[in-house]
Amino acid sequence: MHCPFCSAVDTKVIDSRLVAEGHQVRRRRECLLCHERFTTFEMAELVMPRVIKSNGSREPFNEDKLRSGILRALEKRPVSMEAIEKAVNHIKSRLRATGEREVASELVGNLVMDELKSLDKVAYIRFASVYRSFEDIREFGEEIAKLEK
Ligand SMILES: [Zn+2]
Repeated sequence: MHCPFCSAVDTKVIDSRLVAEGHQVRRRRECLLCHERFTTFEMAELVMPRVIKSNGSREPFNEDKLRSGILRALEKRPVSMEAIEKAVNHIKSRLRATGEREVASELVGNLVMDELKSLDKVAYIRFASVYRSFEDIREFGEEIAKLEK
């Protein structure tokens, strides 16, 4: 990075160490031109992407909303809270793994469907029927047939 003192392009790393229990890298740098020293910290960006809704508006990712959607689909189904939390975390890490700052709400919905498909078929069908609002009964039947394979 450029020197914050004189804006020279070349700076040299003179020391580099792990801090914050290994979650950050602290680097001492020296400007090759003015010889000022400064420190930089590097860490993984764990910010959740924002969600682009179908009408184009953006909203912050809402974990509670995600969880309550999953819970609604799983109402009275034999699935433990632990398994649900695992699914929520799995969806969050897949969203982060996109590396995008914004993702379409469809992607979130598809990730939820993926998780529900392996958790509970009934919940999957419930969620898919609301979320995808199946065009007609034939399409719904096809989705169920796919599950039975
Ligand atoms: Zn400098």
